[in-house]
Amino acid sequence: MSRCVAAVCSADSRKSPHLYPFMRDIIWVKWPSDKATSSRWKRLIRRDDEYEITHRTRLCSRHFDRDCVNKYTGVASEDPKYFAWNNWGQSVKPRKTPAVRATPDPSPPPAITLQQTTPISVVKQSPPEIGCEVEIREDPVHMEISGK
Ligand SMILES: [Zn+2]
Repeated sequence: MSRCVAAVCSADSRKSPHLYPFMRDIIWVKWPSDKATSSRWKRLIRRDDEYEITHRTRLCSRHFDRDCVNKYTGVASEDPKYFAWNNWGQSVKPRKTPAVRATPDPSPPPAITLQQTTPISVVKQSPPEIGCEVEIREDPVHMEISGK
């Protein structure tokens, strides 16, 4: 049984991938034994330095690039970098705003199809009767348009 120790991560081996699609293909990443890496990882996952790390401490592979995690050993070759607070890497904005491309719109303007079924000469429409008799009995509003 494994549970991810990263803050705001709900990965838990008890969760079925059917109910929690993010649990699909989760690899449980071993905590680094190296002290420097360990404390760096604690900062990265937003845990205090006092946070207790045991031999069972695991991170889920969602915090890593896939190819950085050894599927068989659970050893990650890189620091975790994807978290809930950076929208799992989705919100990482590019440093430079890309120049606005001046490429013209390749798609031609949509063809306007006029479906005129009735010849104009036959069109004889009487103006629709609009019933606009509105009786306002309470609190009448006087609209006065003053000609200045
Ligand atoms: Zn996690």
